[in-house]
Formats: sequence, C-alpha cells, structure tokens
Amino acid sequence: MIEPTCIPTLERIESRLRSQPDQHLEFLAHRELIERILELAARKRVLILGHNYMAPLVYNLSGERERGDSLALSRRAAQSDAPIILFDGVLFMAETAKILNPEKKVLIADPTAGCSLTEPFTAEDIREYRGLYPGSPVVTYINSSAEIKAESDYICTSANAARVIRHAAAEHRTRRVIFFPDSLMGANLQQELVRSGSDIELEYPGRRDRRFGRCEVHEQFTARHLREIRLQHRLPRGGPDSAVMVHWECPPEVLAEADFHGSTSDMARAVREHPEWKRIYLATECEMAANLASEFPEVEFIRSCSFFCRHMRKITLEKIAASLEQEVFEVTVPEPVRHRARLAIDRMLAIP
Ligand code: SF4
Repeated sequence: MIEPTCIPTLERIESRLRSQPDQHLEFLAHRELIERILELAARKRVLILGHNYMAPLVYNLSGERERGDSLALSRRAAQSDAPIILFDGVLFMAETAKILNPEKKVLIADPTAGCSLTEPFTAEDIREYRGLYPGSPVVTYINSSAEIKAESDYICTSANAARVIRHAAAEHRTRRVIFFPDSLMGANLQQELVRSGSDIELEYPGRRDRRFGRCEVHEQFTARHLREIRLQHRLPRGGPDSAVMVHWECPPEVLAEADFHGSTSDMARAVREHPEWKRIYLATECEMAANLASEFPEVEFIRSCSFFCRHMRKITLEKIAASLEQEVFEVTVPEPVRHRARLAIDRMLAIP
C-alpha cells in the first residue's frame, strides 16, 4: 500500500496555505478540483512528487517527503511501492524518475513542459567535446535530457557539482573536466574551484565556443537588480536579520552580490538553520519563495514574480486531474538510454 501520509488531506493543505491570504483564496476557489485530485491519487495509489518551483496549490498536493528538488524526489519515488508516479515538474525531472524507477508508470501532466537548459543540446554535442578533450570525464548537470545523461560519465546536481567534479578529475587522473550543459553554472563552478585552490579546468559550453546553455529564468538576474532590492527592502549585505540568496544558475556577478548561493535544497536548509533571518530575497523562480512563505510564515519573503519559469507554469491543477483520470502522459525512456543514464547517476550516488 502507498503510505497514507503521502497523500495530504484537504484540511492539511488548507492549514498550510491559511497563513498566506492570496494562496488561501486560491485554495478556496479550487477546493473541489483539489479534492478530486486527492481522491484519484488515493484510489489509483499514485505518488505525487512536487518540485520546489511548482505553484503553491500544485506543490501542496504532495506530502512533506514528496516535495523538494528533482533528484531527492526521484530517490524518494524509489522507496515507495506506489505503482504510479505523477511528477509535478518539467520533463527532464520526470525522465529522471523513470530512469530510477523503470518498473513504475511515470506520468507528467504536460509533456511540453521543457527546459531551456536541456533543449539546445544533443548527445552529439557531448561526443564532439569528448573528441576535443580526449580522456576528460564528462560531468553533466541533472537538468539535461535522458539522452545527454546517457552520454555522460557522472551526473551532478547543483548541491553536489563541485564535489562530483573533483571526484571525476581524481578518478580519471586529469585536470580537465567537461561540464554540461549550463554555461553560467560552469563559470561559477570554475571560480569556486579556483577559490578553493583547485587547479581543475572546466570545459563548458560557451567557454571556448559559441554554444550557450542557460536557464532562461536565472540568467535574467543582474547585480544591479540585487543592489536595488537591497536598498528598497532593507536587506544590507551581511545584515544580521536578512539575507539575499542566489541560485547557482545565475550569472557570476549576481553570485558576487549575494549573502548565500546554492541549490534550491541548500536555500531551504539555510532558511531553516537561520531563524534570525526575518527578511529574505531569493534570486530564483518566484514560486520557491511562495512555497517557503507558507512553511515559514514568520519570515517576510520578498518576491519578484517577473522571474518565473514558463515551463513549470504549464503544470496546472486541471491538467493534473486529467493526467490522473486518463493516466496520461506516460514518460518513456528507451531501455539502452535508460540503462546508461542510470549508470551515470549511480556513479554520482556512489561518491562519498
Ligand atoms: S527554472 Fe530554468 S532550469 Fe528550471 S526548468 Fe525552468 S528553464 Fe529549466
């Protein structure tokens, strides 16, 4: 049986959203639809996974352990005996869940929910890089297609990228590591490696060529925007009761303006570990702040919702209900691709 705690009750969802009046109103307007989704999920024994960037009503369809970042969610799915997984996130995330859970039916409410990081590249790009830098291992960010993962030696997340890169260089006895596909994150990681005294050289799209991999949301943040936010909302650099937090996928000059940078799970952990922070700005997809606001009602999260992911927004309550009812859209990954992509993920998981 699917663990009863996995599917939240209608009352539990309402109590989480009550502290945020706008979210609570949205809940009341969609109450019947939410109830139908919960009933379908319980009847069909569906594990609903919700990424941090989902809109609050969608995010809260998932239980506490079923909300988070893409890898943690895919690993969570592997612990469940639910026969069906519905991944509320974008396609590469649902593919990752399928790679780790081949025996389960994995659904996504809208298969056109893509990602600007995954779309410009194919496996051929990786093969070309391998040809240019023979003997260099390929470390690929989890925000990539199954096909790209299958061509890689290791997968990494934004939470463990530097560790995986160091491990890959040591294991292959080389100073050069190919990093795919995020150009801005590649530049940020290179700076981090230099700061820590490492002599590893990263080769990433855009460093020596005209390719460019970027998150279309995070690339929009600028250092000037952060300075204005600091002034407007009393968020002084290093202030005792506030913080400006930035995602790894932002440009390097934006990271330089931040009090903290990291992955979405790093940010959530930092908020938990710093109860003294009473005002927080997150330079990331704006729904992340909305979701943290219902978890930490005592903290003021400054939101700028011009920074949103159009792909994530394709996952709506209406499409979720249709997906559960008709058991569409099923995510498939050809077995040879799945097998090789799984090896790259397993190599990452084996790193201590
Ligand atoms: S927020 Fe950026 S990295 Fe995440 S799915 Fe959207 S485009 Fe891709």
